[in-house]
Amino acid sequence: MVQVGPLEEGELSQWVTQTDGDANEASLPSIYQTAPERVPAMHNSLPFILDDLKTETSQKQLSTAQNVMKSVCQPFLPPLDKATHVEFLLSPLDEGLSGGFVGLDASRPWLLYWCTNALSLLGENVGVYNDRAITSLKPLQHPSGGFGGGNGQAPHVAAAYASILTLAITSYHASKGLPDNERLAVYANSFAWIDRQKLLQWLRKIKLPNGGFKVNEGGEEDVRAGYCALVVLALLGYNQEELQGDPSLGELPLLDGVAEYFKSCQTWEGGIGAKPNAEAHGGYAFCVLAALCLLGDPEEALSKNLDLDRLVSWLSARQYAPEGGFSGRTNKLVDGCYSTWVGGCWSLVEAAVNAIESGKTAVKTNIGDLWSRKALIRYILTCCQGPHGGLRDKPGIRPDYYHSNYVLLGLSAAQHYYYYDRSSIESLALTSSPFRHGYRWRSSKNVPKPTGNDGTGGGWLEGLVSDESDRVGAQHPLFNIPLGAESQLQSWWEWFNDVSDEEAVLTET
Ligand SMILES: [Zn+2]
Repeated sequence: MVQVGPLEEGELSQWVTQTDGDANEASLPSIYQTAPERVPAMHNSLPFILDDLKTETSQKQLSTAQNVMKSVCQPFLPPLDKATHVEFLLSPLDEGLSGGFVGLDASRPWLLYWCTNALSLLGENVGVYNDRAITSLKPLQHPSGGFGGGNGQAPHVAAAYASILTLAITSYHASKGLPDNERLAVYANSFAWIDRQKLLQWLRKIKLPNGGFKVNEGGEEDVRAGYCALVVLALLGYNQEELQGDPSLGELPLLDGVAEYFKSCQTWEGGIGAKPNAEAHGGYAFCVLAALCLLGDPEEALSKNLDLDRLVSWLSARQYAPEGGFSGRTNKLVDGCYSTWVGGCWSLVEAAVNAIESGKTAVKTNIGDLWSRKALIRYILTCCQGPHGGLRDKPGIRPDYYHSNYVLLGLSAAQHYYYYDRSSIESLALTSSPFRHGYRWRSSKNVPKPTGNDGTGGGWLEGLVSDESDRVGAQHPLFNIPLGAESQLQSWWEWFNDVSDEEAVLTET
């Protein structure tokens, strides 16, 4: 490594010219160009510490940073162009997909999830797609349990995850404002056809003795599988007794060893890998943090199972300057989708290290912001919006449905403060649920600043949105569906299980 800053004007310009192979080099802004007043300094120059070993990786990093600077240094933040993004995301739902998407035949639930969730984040009512989502997803339920990614395909835990999330989103929208009986009917239509017992039996087949899960029978083991399995179990209302299993059938408690497995995936860097001894990666880190927070309150679940100091160090290194966005791994490039995978981690880590809240308003924080929300927002608004709608990885790359959802989810993480509410009033069924911690999350549009021991400080972080029309919806920080959709679904399961129990009693008598 070589320390090159602070530099004389000629030095770094020369270095940039020598190492950058970009054909558009001549049009690059000078790194010493006088910064417009409104652009924070971090976006206006390349890092002062540069590696003097030139490799393909370092060259790509440099040319990416230079390319991003052309967009991220705009003096005024462009608005979130909701109308064109909505048009982009409605197109596959209303007009269908072109033949070029045949390669995504095993990702049907994912396409539904990405589009409906992204539209929901943009404020659209996707309840109109509920019936069609049911029609599309029903044939994916496998006769032996679980969901395939396409018709007639073997079950896969990610397909089950995306299917359940889609139904949770569309039924939430479809039932908004309806009287109780009609709301219950919407949920019955959306969920009562799922064979929960077969799904549970199938999940037992992909559970591993080491506490991990495989993505499908014969498939790979990784923490995505564990996270997806836990989300499916939580959103389908399985209780402790069901998860314990029947010892006479040789069934073991399904959650045995799960937290320990996740714990074993933290790496020497402080991040979290796909499985033990794998490279730390933002996507897997989110899966582990979210899964642990389903099993306990964030303060205890994260500090008990992970080395938080090292995790914070690794997460901090994921946010780049001048880009402002996140990379997923060490020595990788910034990418819009990590706005969720890394930004989502920050929501959970902040909830773990800040005070646990009680009540509907977040008022206290011990340490305040650990990451630059404003820098991420700037990266998203200046670099991730496709000119014809949709959101993307970075400038020069076409938008797609996956990035649209995860860039907007990351924007939601930056624009909202998510906290765990210990004072939630819960039903008896939820209080005894192994996933009760997942139902205690709240959001605040105001991000609190820390208050000192002497009572000074405090207040709110300002300037996260320049106009309320730029704000996207609040999302559940573990499930990645609209905040509130999880509790509506849970209420319905409680009603449904009570009715089923009563019917069983009547049948017996
Ligand atoms: Zn990406």
